[in-house]
Amino acid sequence: MKLQPLKQWICDSCGELIMKLEDGWWEYLHDTKTDLISGFRIVHHRKSCMYDEEALRRKNTIVGDMSLDHMVKSGAFGHMLHWLELSETKKLNEHFEITEFTEIMRRLYLPYWEEARLHWEHAYKEGFHDKCGFSENDLLHIIEEYGN
Ligand SMILES: [Zn+2]
Repeated sequence: MKLQPLKQWICDSCGELIMKLEDGWWEYLHDTKTDLISGFRIVHHRKSCMYDEEALRRKNTIVGDMSLDHMVKSGAFGHMLHWLELSETKKLNEHFEITEFTEIMRRLYLPYWEEARLHWEHAYKEGFHDKCGFSENDLLHIIEEYGN
């Protein structure tokens, strides 16, 4: 095992390890023409890895973001579900790229997912799991079997 669960991530921008929570940043894109929310990412909190807000604004896209620390520790799980509910019940015009939304939720809140996801499809194709087991044990088994 390489990653500490819910403390270390792989940066979606540079592909390197985010060593600790405080180094991480969470961000997404809001298309102001369609109100689609997508592009969820976990990246290093540095300009070279984060979305280029200026360039995106010229393409009618607003970057939303938050520290990773806040996302993991400060009740953001409840906030994310609330946001999803408002969207699904049409109380908000914003709507989600739902596959991306569910994946970022797993990455933020499901222990060992960040590492197991690297091997998930491969392990599935080999019949190692059936895409139903998300327990810590299930995910650890995948990491043990397929990591390195
Ligand atoms: Zn990075």
